[in-house]
Amino acid sequence: MYPQLVIDLNKVKNNLDKISEMVKSVGCSLMIVTKGYCADVEIYKMLEESDIDFLADSRIQNLKKYEGTKKQRALLRLPMGSEAEEIVRYADLSLNSELVTIKKLDDAARKQNKIHNILLMIDLGDLREGIFYKNEDEILNAVEEILKLENIKLHGIGVNLTCYGAVIPKNENLSILVDIAEKIEQKFDIKLDMISGGNSSSVHLIDKNELPKKINNLRIGEAFLLGDETSYSQMLDGLYDDCFVLEAEIIELKVKQSVPIGETGVDAFGNKPVYEDRGIIKRAIIAVGRQDVDSDNLHPIDPKIDILGASSDHLILDVTKSDNEYKVGDIINFKLSYSSLLRATTSAYVSRTYIK
Ligand SMILES: *Cc1c(COP(=O)(O)O)cnc(C)c1O
Repeated sequence: MYPQLVIDLNKVKNNLDKISEMVKSVGCSLMIVTKGYCADVEIYKMLEESDIDFLADSRIQNLKKYEGTKKQRALLRLPMGSEAEEIVRYADLSLNSELVTIKKLDDAARKQNKIHNILLMIDLGDLREGIFYKNEDEILNAVEEILKLENIKLHGIGVNLTCYGAVIPKNENLSILVDIAEKIEQKFDIKLDMISGGNSSSVHLIDKNELPKKINNLRIGEAFLLGDETSYSQMLDGLYDDCFVLEAEIIELKVKQSVPIGETGVDAFGNKPVYEDRGIIKRAIIAVGRQDVDSDNLHPIDPKIDILGASSDHLILDVTKSDNEYKVGDIINFKLSYSSLLRATTSAYVSRTYIK
């Protein structure tokens, strides 16, 4: 059934082993982040047999799928207070920044007779989650309150970068996180077990030997899935970028002009597109659309195919320059960037096959 996502589990395993080796070589524990591919169960089986420490996801529904796992489970997105009960049940650790929510987790943990671990998130300037690093009083006050809660353990602190603000992790900004950890440890005479230094954008610091020594955890999704570090978009040595390949079928192939005829308004998504005049071209329509992929983050493996545009269920290609004589019914293959992988694995219309 097309469109289908072909997942090469041997390549995924290769990437997993390489990431694990890198992350562990600098003394960090490893959370593998499974949200980018909707917690696929075949990949889960592989992770279960690996030496990773945590299965991490932003959605509690995905962590719930890992019922019975030998690994620890971490919730990455800040909890909703309304899901506190489920979070305590299905996650061993969650990332937090709001005392009201942490108190709800404490209540839920008491009812379930559990201790729930949290990382207090610090915002080093990316301006997504976390207490702003300059607000030292707010940080120390939060710690003081957390330490009063009987069913919550402050497992450590963490930062997330390169998500909203596109801020790149460096030795300098991550050292601020380490300083904050040390301040907390001294003031409250406690030991923080985990200082979590970010996601795939922190991987570039490993090779450069610039990850501060006290950072002892990383949370890795994209680098594992697509083989790149996400600060400078460089491929990592020995990793694959084609563990996931999307295959979709040609449903129309016609020679037409490249600029629409008539007065133009907005397209199916309310945008006013600009059309490049390519003259008369050979256009292929394939049966996959924006519901299943992000057409700006999809890469035809045939280098001579250009993506012209997409609507919800159609992707329009210029195949004029290709060396292949495509016909209706042929399959076109694509590599995917993160946002396309996310959609393809979330779409109910994309089937999956595995290379084992
Ligand atoms: C998504 C996410 C990650 C993983 O990011 P990648 O860039 O895919 O490695 C790590 N931490 C948090 C909090 C996240 O939301």
